[in-house]
Amino acid sequence: MKVVELLTDVKRPCAFVPTMGALHAGHQSLIKIARELSDEVIVSVFVNPLQFEDKNDLINYPRTPERDEELAREAGATILWRPSVDQIYPPSALQLKAGDVGTTFEGIRRHGHFDGVVTVVNRLFEIVQPKYAIFGEKDFQQLFLIKEMAQQLHPDIEIVPAPTIRESSGLALSSRNVRLSAHGRVVADVISRVLHKAAEAESLIEMKRELEKLSGHKDFILDYAEVIDEKNFNLADDETEEKRAIVAGWVDGVRLIDNLAMAKKLVRV
Ligand code: AMP
Repeated sequence: MKVVELLTDVKRPCAFVPTMGALHAGHQSLIKIARELSDEVIVSVFVNPLQFEDKNDLINYPRTPERDEELAREAGATILWRPSVDQIYPPSALQLKAGDVGTTFEGIRRHGHFDGVVTVVNRLFEIVQPKYAIFGEKDFQQLFLIKEMAQQLHPDIEIVPAPTIRESSGLALSSRNVRLSAHGRVVADVISRVLHKAAEAESLIEMKRELEKLSGHKDFILDYAEVIDEKNFNLADDETEEKRAIVAGWVDGVRLIDNLAMAKKLVRV
């Protein structure tokens, strides 16, 4: 595996895994999928200043460069690319706006966040020109908006979704989990517990009843828990075929998000 700041001699077609570093087994699963698709796998590590409204969050974002190299190599990356801010954002760089969905859910709390995400991913795609780009379902709204952007601006790139990797407790792996206390980790487990219960529900009303259990929980500050239509990110109704519950909240002052596909509508004959 080469570790580079400037991307040269890329063998194409290639597969691409964009990250912000502090790699964990969730990122590794994306790299493994990329490796199945292509012999050349580029992993970028770029903590994108544009997508952090809160500059303290940017400063405190975990950075583990040596471990990133180890984990990327182990998972099968062939190039670990750490671009500079100047390379990604020359004065001529296009600033994109995420569509309407970018101002809902995560976009409400984190103003301009998704504009920053689609802007950086567009720039990364321009430079890497991959055949495949792999993104985690863990960030489901992000995945939705990147698919939209790619359809318009990079129709030749295949966006490949990857399932969420969880700890044995059910907690979705996240670079931010390192900031949770031991007690906070136990508290955070309520998110996946409730999501999995909701996924077994047969009706929307039952799903919502399960999700409501998140609001009265001590030490978990709920932001939202909703069931959406995967196709358009609108709130689901009884007729919605592909439903997904999405949850966000805070534990120990750390913002956590998670989501899960809900059972398909039962067709009774
Ligand atoms: P990040 O470094 O947090 O920007 O994430 C880089 C990529 O890894 C994104 O596509 C995320 O959705 C994905 N990712 C993060 N956590 C997980 C996880 N637990 N399971 C699968 N993919 C993940």
